[in-house]
Amino acid sequence: MLTLQSPVDQLIRIKEDTRTALKKLGIHTIEDLLYHFPTRYADESQFVSIQGLTEEVTATVRGTIKKIAAKKSWKSKMPMSEAVIEDVSGSLPVVWFNQPYLAKMLHVGATIELTGKVTMYKDKLALVNPTVREEKTLPIDSHDSLFGTDENAILTPIYAESKGVSSLWFHHAITRALATLETIPDHIPAALLEQYSLPALKTALIWIHGPKTANNATVARKRFAFDEIFSINIARQKERMTIKEHVAYAIDTEGTDTEDFISRFGFPLTGAQTNAIDHILHDLEQDVPMSRLLEGDVGSGKTAVAAVAAYATVMNRPGSKEKKQSFGSLQVAYMAPTEILATQHFESFIELFRHTGISIALITGSGCRKFPSKVASNKDNWTTISRAQLSKWIANGEIPIVIGTHALIQKSLTFKHLALAIIDEQHRFGLNQRKGLAKKDTHFPHLLSMTATPIPRTLALTMYGDLDLSLLDQLPAGRKQVTTVLVTPDKREEVYEKVRAVLKEGRQAYIICPRINSSDKDAEKTIQMKNVMTEAKRLQDVVFPEYRIGILHSKMTKDDKESAMEDFMNHDTDILVATSVVEVGVNVPNATVIIIEGAERFGLSQLHQLRGRVQRSSHQPYCYLFAEAKSERTQERMKLFLQAKNGFELAEYDLQLRGTGELTGTQQWGISDIGMEALRNLKLVEAARQAAIGIISDDPMLEKYPLLGARIKPFEKMHFE
Ligand code: ADP
Ligand code: MG
Repeated sequence: MLTLQSPVDQLIRIKEDTRTALKKLGIHTIEDLLYHFPTRYADESQFVSIQGLTEEVTATVRGTIKKIAAKKSWKSKMPMSEAVIEDVSGSLPVVWFNQPYLAKMLHVGATIELTGKVTMYKDKLALVNPTVREEKTLPIDSHDSLFGTDENAILTPIYAESKGVSSLWFHHAITRALATLETIPDHIPAALLEQYSLPALKTALIWIHGPKTANNATVARKRFAFDEIFSINIARQKERMTIKEHVAYAIDTEGTDTEDFISRFGFPLTGAQTNAIDHILHDLEQDVPMSRLLEGDVGSGKTAVAAVAAYATVMNRPGSKEKKQSFGSLQVAYMAPTEILATQHFESFIELFRHTGISIALITGSGCRKFPSKVASNKDNWTTISRAQLSKWIANGEIPIVIGTHALIQKSLTFKHLALAIIDEQHRFGLNQRKGLAKKDTHFPHLLSMTATPIPRTLALTMYGDLDLSLLDQLPAGRKQVTTVLVTPDKREEVYEKVRAVLKEGRQAYIICPRINSSDKDAEKTIQMKNVMTEAKRLQDVVFPEYRIGILHSKMTKDDKESAMEDFMNHDTDILVATSVVEVGVNVPNATVIIIEGAERFGLSQLHQLRGRVQRSSHQPYCYLFAEAKSERTQERMKLFLQAKNGFELAEYDLQLRGTGELTGTQQWGISDIGMEALRNLKLVEAARQAAIGIISDDPMLEKYPLLGARIKPFEKMHFE
């Protein structure tokens, strides 16, 4: 008997190229197939047949490209593209003036939708400069209604296809699956479906793949949106409960003079920092492991907060609350995403902890360091040390604070009394990673995870549902606001002169481009978008011949990247031409100006992250935005950017304005399009979260909900290292 878990080829005979295509789409079981939702629905009634076109009307036609080529107009030599498209009723010439690249982007045989005004051109009716929408799929014949023979069914589902499998194939396979499977058990408890008026699983599947009305489709999508957010929340709440069953070192913060430690910072804490520290110290006092996320814009002072937590921890002796040892100290591991950042943290921690006499170590791929040095003549400084020696000292508990990269969580490294793990800019650091750090220790480390990635509240509630949240939504007083200017193309030279003046004063500059090199397949974008390689060369040859220019992009090897950053940090280069890779936590205080090319191509929160790079010194920082698109939308977005108070606000704008595709690192969250869509709806997200909390607090192991337990398996693995 067929079940959801049966492989697709038990349902339907599959040809070899279809098999390959399905594999690529990650479709193996009937369940996978049923969860391959249409990306959209085409409403057949909106298209006009070519035969039916009349002059001066604005119309949308859909057809196949018969011919297409780039040309120069005969008289003015204006570059252009010319095409002929065809539907069942006839064919139609199409011209695009000034857009020769379209001839490269579109190809014969592709199905496209064109919207534009019907005009006479060379004595024939034609579409001139229409907007183009390339169909990723061939539409299903609308008369071949999916379910039953409802005459009104005009919504045809369009699926994401790949070579070898068409929308039509999906249509047949899914129809058969739904007809064959008599019942499809629902993992969402019936009471919840009723409470939120959601359709049962089978109904929702029928509706999403073959809606009779637009409302069918909407209701079905709503069900699957709730379903996904709810399931992720179940997985997160379950993890939260599991972690709370472990024992952590309860840290006595009363007997620790954190006030004194803070008073040496040389600046007063912001209110947000004080709040965060209060929450963290309170968490650390419990023998239940802390799981807290500290979210704060670049420069909001997360390191200082981390340092206080580390200080409170290492001033404590190992042992249980009742019975403390009389020697040794608890340990802290502080993990950063790159060697440069780990080294920077090591250096700031030396300054902050110098007066305490506490030992601090650095461990990265390129070697290890220890502070203070044992050598009397070098006592105020660090010294290099072998990894073997350092490992021994960490294992016997002699070094309380260990800072490092991923080298920190390698199997070979064992802490004696690890009480706190601080994780900087790692998107997820889950149960298994924490277990891995604890090794044989019966205690589980407290976790302080820190991020400057501004994400909307709904995404945080969902993806970080197992963590408590502290926000640093305040920048330290006296921080200079970045002067941000949206530059029109005619002012480009002026901006270069301004940058030159800043460089002359001994400062440095970032120039950010949207692309790495010019070999992109996408002809239009290549023409219009600045790319790192070409731009770096042009800047060196033409604009800033007197300055040293470095480059940085994601395709460089890790070593090349680090050395490019190091050159910039040591001021061996003056200008760094880069893609958005500089986004993540790099600190070069002497860089005070940033130019962002193609600014309209970045999400607002990403622009904000980039701008944060130059807000690190006492010099006035500048951010110049070049935006190519003159559309109203671009203008609107840029205006929001100039006005917004912080990154959180911008992340919300990104979510609402452009959708989740624009959020930093969307793919890495592993949420489907429908799930991402749901994040725009705070009410839905909160309802799903409350529902999940209700179920897990009643039945943490989901013993009463085996189907739900199976459903959340993939979400339990959503952790990143
Ligand atoms: P981030 O949150 O980006 O990690 P950092 O912790 O690196 O920020 O802090 C940025 C800079 O601001 C550091 O030089 C730090 O010493 C300084 N700083 C932190 N908190 C304050 C404060 N309350 N007042 C003034 N300067 C501060
Ligand atoms: Mg930081």
